[in-house]
Amino acid sequence: MEEGKSNSAEKISLTEQEWKGLLTPQQYYVLREKGTERPGTGLYDQFFLKGKYYCAGCGFELFESGSKFDAGCGWPSFSEPSENRNITENADLSYGMIRTEVVCSRCGGHLGHVFNDGPPPGGLRYCINSASLVFKSQEELNSAKISETIEP
Ligand SMILES: [Zn+2]
Repeated sequence: MEEGKSNSAEKISLTEQEWKGLLTPQQYYVLREKGTERPGTGLYDQFFLKGKYYCAGCGFELFESGSKFDAGCGWPSFSEPSENRNITENADLSYGMIRTEVVCSRCGGHLGHVFNDGPPPGGLRYCINSASLVFKSQEELNSAKISETIEP
């Protein structure tokens, strides 16, 4: 084992069979088959609690509630990722369109697409499927932090 390296960007690679065992059918459809949930049906579309969003495939941190906004498109929209390196962009030429697909940098799971019609200053809109995200509220994150720092 290599020491001193952050494990944050360590790639996760599972077989499709293993992913099928881990994910719900809807998560598998979005993350592994690059599916798109129907607009307005996702858990996090109209959802604005304070907290962080993690990859539903591998738990990698992807977005924070502070960058979430209502784009009215029917999918959760973010103006920027938590960390740029946590998200990887790929050209997507499917369906006769030129789009930029965004995937989790750790497990390669499909998240959604990024468009250039977001709010200033960045002007980006990360249009993400709810099924590819897991939300943790600020309270959950705080209490996890407190329990980590309690001395035995
Ligand atoms: Zn992931």
